[in-house]
Amino acid sequence: MSHPKEERTLVLVKPDGVKRGLIGEILSRFEKRGLKVIALKMSWPTKEYIAKHYLGEDDWLEMIGEKNRIAFEKQGLDLKEKMGTTDHKEIGRKVKGWLEEYITSGPVVAMIIQGMHAISTVRKITGHTYPIESAPGTIRGDFSVDTPIAANIEKRAVRNLIHASGDEKEAAHEIKHWFGPEEIHSYKRSDEDVMF
Ligand code: ATP
Ligand code: MG
Repeated sequence: MSHPKEERTLVLVKPDGVKRGLIGEILSRFEKRGLKVIALKMSWPTKEYIAKHYLGEDDWLEMIGEKNRIAFEKQGLDLKEKMGTTDHKEIGRKVKGWLEEYITSGPVVAMIIQGMHAISTVRKITGHTYPIESAPGTIRGDFSVDTPIAANIEKRAVRNLIHASGDEKEAAHEIKHWFGPEEIHSYKRSDEDVMF
């Protein structure tokens, strides 16, 4: 295991974040917390590219389905009636298709963030997957309000401004998918010695 200060995670400002002019606002929240941007670029990805970003393996499909089950239950809504199925993997596959549409609808800004427990720290700054559930003070909780219920009625992905790797396995895969070693930079921030 590497030092917790050197953990890396991948963040995408999704097309809604870019089109709403929130690139700087999002980036600054990571920087203020003491996290370091070590790679950065804008690109307009293809569906094939995004299909390889979200691998859609069984455990990921399961996780998407389970998150949906909880959200619908909380609202007292019938998952089967709204999603057409209660099968977690089938829900996951449906969401993956919508995600491919969403993330290819405009340019995205991709970055690698490095710093103290970067994967979990960035997730905390990001907020809950569903903006309606995101706490104020998080990126999603301050700038968005979408719900899976609305998204499912409209057959589209939840618009939640950013993507952040969920765990070490996702981070390793996504960093390799988006950046070559020559695009990743090593440097010291002037406040590092004071912060930790
Ligand atoms: P991301 O992986 O994009 O950072 P996340 O890890 O918070 O988000 P995941 O559970 O991995 O959330 O879901 C991936 C993305 O799928 C979500 O960010 C959201 O855009 C979309 N999504 C999830 N559930 C639904 C749903 N029921 N309807 C529409 N879109 C959904
Ligand atoms: Mg995720």
